Amino acid sequence: KKPKIGIIGLGVMGQGLALNMADNQVSVTVYNREVRGAEENIARNFADENKELYHFSWFSDLEKFLKYLPRPRNILLMVKAGPAVDSVISELLPYLEKDDLIIDAGNSHYEDTQRRIAELQNKEVLFLGTGVSGGEEGARNGPSIMPGGSKDAYERVAPILESIAARDKTGKACCSYIGPGGSGHFVKMLHNGIEYGEMQLIAEFYHYMRFFLDMPVEEIAAMFAKWNEKLDSYLLEISIDILHRKENDELLLDLILDAAGQKGTGGWSTEAALKYGVALDTITAAVMARNISGDKERRTRAAALFNFKKLDGVLYDGIHEKLFEAFRLVQVVNHSIGFDLLNKASEENNWELDLSEISRIWTNGCIIRSSLMNSLIDSFKDNPKEHLLLNPNFVKLANRSREALLEVGTQAMSYGCPMPVTASAINYFLNFTSSQSSANMIQAQRDYFGAHAYERTDKPRGEFYRTHWKIKN
Ligand code: NDP
Repeated sequence: KKPKIGIIGLGVMGQGLALNMADNQVSVTVYNREVRGAEENIARNFADENKELYHFSWFSDLEKFLKYLPRPRNILLMVKAGPAVDSVISELLPYLEKDDLIIDAGNSHYEDTQRRIAELQNKEVLFLGTGVSGGEEGARNGPSIMPGGSKDAYERVAPILESIAARDKTGKACCSYIGPGGSGHFVKMLHNGIEYGEMQLIAEFYHYMRFFLDMPVEEIAAMFAKWNEKLDSYLLEISIDILHRKENDELLLDLILDAAGQKGTGGWSTEAALKYGVALDTITAAVMARNISGDKERRTRAAALFNFKKLDGVLYDGIHEKLFEAFRLVQVVNHSIGFDLLNKASEENNWELDLSEISRIWTNGCIIRSSLMNSLIDSFKDNPKEHLLLNPNFVKLANRSREALLEVGTQAMSYGCPMPVTASAINYFLNFTSSQSSANMIQAQRDYFGAHAYERTDKPRGEFYRTHWKIKN
């Protein structure tokens, strides 16, 4: 049977997608470069390892692989993001013909995707910058798929991509055309940004409860499990599993070094927030928390110098409920922030992102699936572009939980527990809900030292005024 699609790159994700396609009757051929000699031919090994259940045609010669694919070709790249993608594209170029399609399914930067689309347009080669979420398991059993770029190209491969995607609760594929240009990869980037925020939120609540409220790990796991009956968050679910995992009677978590890195999408979200002038507090705080965690050596020296006395928190009546309410509100604020940047970038680039549809395809297969995500489908359907903290449903929730959030966050820090995402959610929430900000002082300072001029509250917007601050009146 002629292949409908060819996959380049048989790493963790590429292998999962190939098997997933085979399971869904998509005939697929695979290619991986041969860099370590014939002994370790990755494509052949992959076909061999799976030969009992599947028949994969495989290649380690690019030209033969391309000849084997029927025209116009559908080629899915699942290689390391960055220069590797450009290098593979330039190897492909001499063989590509009009209407061949490259689907870049790795975590490429959306601006790289935009550049690649423009470069390939000259050759009339189509391109889909496609976000894929769900990790190894998602790729194998059904990821959430975010394709952006040529709409015609999407329609051509929609049956393939939709057949391998996860299903939402109505049975519809968690795959939908996102928009033109780099929008698919932009949306994937923000998916990961929200993921960074939620991971750190769980991490810091666990840390606070364990080391400052002195709650036993089993109790924390049980409490998270109870919360998750309502929240149904995949990240909380895996964190509960992590809290149960022992190695020789010891909690495995205690043996894992407390130093995390960040190497792409989280930090890129922050860069995009600067570019589009949007506040991205929780996501940025989560990225910075990883950076500081990686600085273990200096943290350890500083800890000895400051000898910060850890205070024991008080487990007062009702604290469990307050912790839950605070956690849930930070989760909402973190999502509000991520979707706000999506909305802004959509407006600036005329992507016409459908936030309700994006929420829908994030309800299954991806890492940030949760009951909150399910509720966002309708929230954005009713108010397509509205900030979540201006949406009546969430205003109600936030009004109910804001005191708990302030209490939990400030208390935790007063005991000496760092709460980067919680604290930044508090500040964002307080800033966002203040009609009078402190920025009049900033504008006055700027005008004082830099002659930047300011707008006045008693004059129309757009009119600028200066004061000669050094001349006393
Ligand atoms: P792996 O490291 O497992 O695989 C990387 C693949 O890229 C290998 O097939 C490798 O080939 C190939 N490759 C690397 N450099 C080159 C090059 N210069 N030329 C040709 N091929 C090259 O990565 P993953 O499968 O985990 O990730 C692939 C992409 O998917 C990345 O962009 C990643 O960010 C993204 N992604 C990953 C997720 C995950 O959970 N792992 C989730 C969602 C997206 P070789 O074996 O020959 O080196």
